[in-house]
Amino acid sequence: MPDAILVLNAGSSSLKFALFPNDDGQPTAILRGKIAGIGTNPIFSVKDRTALPKERFPVMARTLGLEDLIPLLINWVNAHLGDVTITAAGHRVVHGGEYRVGPARVTQALMRDLETLVPLAPMHQPHNLSAMRYVAATLRDLPQVACFDTSFHRTQNHLSKLFALPRALSDEGIQRYGFHGLSYNYIASTLPQHLGDKADGRIVVAHLGSGASMCAMKGRQSVATSMGFTALDGLVMGRRCGTLDAGVVLYLIQEKGMTAEQISTLLYRKSGLLGVSGISNDMAVLEASDDPHAREAIELFCHRAARQLAALATDMGGLEAIVFTAGIGENSALVRRLICERLAWLGVDLDGAANLQGTRKISSPDSKVGILVIPTDEEAVIVHATRALTRD
Ligand code: ADP
Repeated sequence: MPDAILVLNAGSSSLKFALFPNDDGQPTAILRGKIAGIGTNPIFSVKDRTALPKERFPVMARTLGLEDLIPLLINWVNAHLGDVTITAAGHRVVHGGEYRVGPARVTQALMRDLETLVPLAPMHQPHNLSAMRYVAATLRDLPQVACFDTSFHRTQNHLSKLFALPRALSDEGIQRYGFHGLSYNYIASTLPQHLGDKADGRIVVAHLGSGASMCAMKGRQSVATSMGFTALDGLVMGRRCGTLDAGVVLYLIQEKGMTAEQISTLLYRKSGLLGVSGISNDMAVLEASDDPHAREAIELFCHRAARQLAALATDMGGLEAIVFTAGIGENSALVRRLICERLAWLGVDLDGAANLQGTRKISSPDSKVGILVIPTDEEAVIVHATRALTRD
């Protein structure tokens, strides 16, 4: 019976999961899947559909929440992958706080500690914690490991983390943390294989997915990043507004009488690509639309991304390579082109044909800056950490 690690990435409306062999090999997933629409209409899907007949997907009841879905998922694994035994679980956790520089074994004390960070990541942290609790309740002795999206950015210098607010607020933890660290960690680990000696140079990684951010790396460590105190800052995202004049929030409170909850919903769920287009939060849908508002949303996304990329290059005093990753970064030739065209003055020059094909290297031979497309694998980072921290 192969031992397996269950990887869980629990969000507000979806639970992504994967199973990996718990051995010493390169992490290759046995299975990856997702339960989307939690709380409304849960839909269960596995990525490699050819391996598993459709009728094996359980029909989900509308009312099921995470607390029901995790035991159901584990039962499903036991029923349909009978030769696999889950021997450890690894979790993606959005916030690890100021000092946590690496993954940690899940204990009651750790969960209590992570609970105190819920106000810093209200859309993600409670769900990450719930997943740990439900696994602990369902599989009592299963070792669990938490991997933090903030950890990768702990190498940043003090200035990169500081807001221009009164010092007392910074001292109590109101500072830039940065997120998507598991993705950046994975990309950093692959850079030598793609860039050789230049892997330790000045590189901006653009993680462009439903959530989107960029990270400036030097020596494969985080120097600066676009997300800040929360995962709301920086780039335009599927539903999030990204960087916003704080005066807009004051106006919404003072002049429009909006409550904190209403503003939170507006900024986290109704803005970004969805808010600007009025059509969808999904880049592929917007690209297929001929509505001018869809095009404007794409243009704004790319305008802000190019501006952020140039700012991050300034943080490093130069730029040797750009890496595109995540759903949009890996798949949208249009977005990559619209961003790179805006950066021509930095010596960024795309090979149009390679970009359309989505090959690994998409910069022209004349480009002063290398441009790469590298698929990310946050789960692989979680598996490595879980193996390392659960071995006796
Ligand atoms: P998350 O993991 O945060 O859910 P992903 O990294 O899967 O997000 O990215 C989802 C985004 O990627 C969506 O906006 C989706 O439209 C976009 N995307 C995926 N494939 C394509 C494509 N072929 N063209 C354009 N956008 C795409």
